[in-house]
Amino acid sequence: IIKIKKLVKSFGDLEVLKGVDLTVLKGEVLVVMGPSGSGKSTLLRCIAGLEPYQDGIITLEEKNILNYDRKKLVQKIGFVFQQHNLFPHLKIIDNISLGLIRTKKMTKKDAYDIALKVLEEVHLKDKAYNFPSQLSGGQQQRAGIARALAMDPEIILFDEPTSALDPSLVYEVKETMVELAKMGKTMIVVTHEVDFAKKAGNRIIFMKDGKILENMDPETFFKTEMKYEIA
Ligand code: ATP
Ligand code: MG
Repeated sequence: IIKIKKLVKSFGDLEVLKGVDLTVLKGEVLVVMGPSGSGKSTLLRCIAGLEPYQDGIITLEEKNILNYDRKKLVQKIGFVFQQHNLFPHLKIIDNISLGLIRTKKMTKKDAYDIALKVLEEVHLKDKAYNFPSQLSGGQQQRAGIARALAMDPEIILFDEPTSALDPSLVYEVKETMVELAKMGKTMIVVTHEVDFAKKAGNRIIFMKDGKILENMDPETFFKTEMKYEIA
């Protein structure tokens, strides 16, 4: 579904991605690990079309992402960040409906129906009419995931979705993500959570200094993990 060939990305003189090749298949859960500064977030941002790059090509369903209409790309590629980025002045249901109404031109009623459906998937239907500040951190993050799901994207990118959470709240978000993986969603997940990788990952890549050093199944990876500093 995603093909990346010889991707090179620099910020000024600093080369952050040094020729990355990667393929992600439909239904696959790809876990991205690697030390801080290795280029994990930059890679996700390039895939989402949020960063220009200097060389190489990224295709989504055989079409160069640069050739997609911006609105179309936002529908096809979901992004869940470390922080949920929910609008504080909107109820959860309106946070989720907004994108559907704006970019998919849905009626409010249709958007609400979908919002309630995805909230059910992340077990938050009862919070639909609450404001973000009335939810726990883990619930807020799950609402952020529901917002991405609502667009029915081809692929969802997660950038350390649990790392800003209180440790006691990590589990519920991880479990929600494991459920999505089991539902067959295509996901790229940057995380240090080894148990998520083992439970839900189909493949792990390990990045260092802007390159992919390893690309293998989780079982093999964690047999040899001592070679690497994961976090
Ligand atoms: P972390 O685990 O800390 O999130 P990461 O692997 O996600 O790290 P990136 O955020 O992709 O790393 O950053 C890779 C490199 O690019 C770092 O050296 C960082 O300082 C640099 N970088 C990232 N964003 C920018 C930017 N907007 N301008 C300049 N340099 C940047
Ligand atoms: Mg990062």
